[in-house]
Amino acid sequence: MDMPIATPHTATPLTDQFGRTITYLRLSVTDRCDLRCRYCMAEDMVFLPKTDVLTLEEMLELSDAFIARGVNRIRLTGGEPLVRKNIMWLIEALGERVKSGNLQEITLTTNGTQLPKMAGDLYRAGVRRINVSLDTLDAKRFQDISRRDKLETVLAGIDAAKQAGLRVKINTVAMRHFNEAEIPELVHWATTKDFDITLIETMPLGDIEGAREDSYLPLTAVKSNLEQRFDLTTSGHRTGGPARYFAINGSHSKLGLITPLTNNFCDGCNRVRVTCTGRIYMCLGQDDHIDLRAALRSEDKHANLNECLDKSMGLKPRGHDFAMSNGQMVGKVNRHMSQTGG
Ligand code: SAM
Ligand code: SF4
Repeated sequence: MDMPIATPHTATPLTDQFGRTITYLRLSVTDRCDLRCRYCMAEDMVFLPKTDVLTLEEMLELSDAFIARGVNRIRLTGGEPLVRKNIMWLIEALGERVKSGNLQEITLTTNGTQLPKMAGDLYRAGVRRINVSLDTLDAKRFQDISRRDKLETVLAGIDAAKQAGLRVKINTVAMRHFNEAEIPELVHWATTKDFDITLIETMPLGDIEGAREDSYLPLTAVKSNLEQRFDLTTSGHRTGGPARYFAINGSHSKLGLITPLTNNFCDGCNRVRVTCTGRIYMCLGQDDHIDLRAALRSEDKHANLNECLDKSMGLKPRGHDFAMSNGQMVGKVNRHMSQTGG
């Protein structure tokens, strides 16, 4: 495949009705995955027909349209981004945009299963940081939560990433009755590897087996528990994302907390999400979206895409409505996280 060259910044920035400027795109490159994490997917997920999914060339064109409007960081996600066929082509093309200064960063969120074979290629393409999702260090528990026996592969992948020179941040969904007791050990493990680790409250996205409330674990309680073992101080570190960070004194690692249910974080939101079919969602927790695929496939695609992007800014809501109310999770949306892109 030929690699088109990025267009330089030409147009006005993407600013929403609340004055927030969008500089960060999370692009889901596939809804498919080689794991089936219980909080994310049903075992018998029905995936999208491949004909509905944007080609990699279309994803690059779309990325360039966002870059031209001031987006300076792109995170590839999914589903599992590294199981998309030929994904390195897109990553290399975006890496070129970084090298030429059109983009500050290309990064990805991955479950780590493909890292043993792909970590070196990612580094060579210009990726410098990745997030790896890991909820447990126990093989049986890993199989239980992800419905696949792949802990060893993931740990080998994490080591391969470090070896290749990638900075790794671990993402852990905190779950009552599942990894609650193991969280201090996971944090300790991250410090021994010099990784930052971010804990995430489970969010009501899509239907899963069982009630989400059963595994909901507020991070306020987790933090108090961690303070018994670790010396945590508030860190000024911000990524423009939802996490609040704490230095883990005595280590090089930081602890991040993403608390959509106990502490809404939407005021400084700088991001939008695009699904692998080209729908732009302005908020993970709301249903408003616009179809960019039709614009992308139209004759006057540049004008039509820009019109859609302008329109999307008018639809970006103030925030999500996830909350706990009388022991029930409210603000639910019907899409799974794997659909919108985590
Ligand atoms: N497959 C990749 C991975 O697991 O890192 C990328 C996609 S995954 C949807 C992105 C992140 O979303 C993961 O860290 C996962 O743990 C998280 N996630 C999925 N469903 C969630 C939910 N309902 N609540 C909170 N986090 C969720
Ligand atoms: Fe796959 Fe990531 Fe969802 Fe797990 S969280 S099922 S690895 S997309």
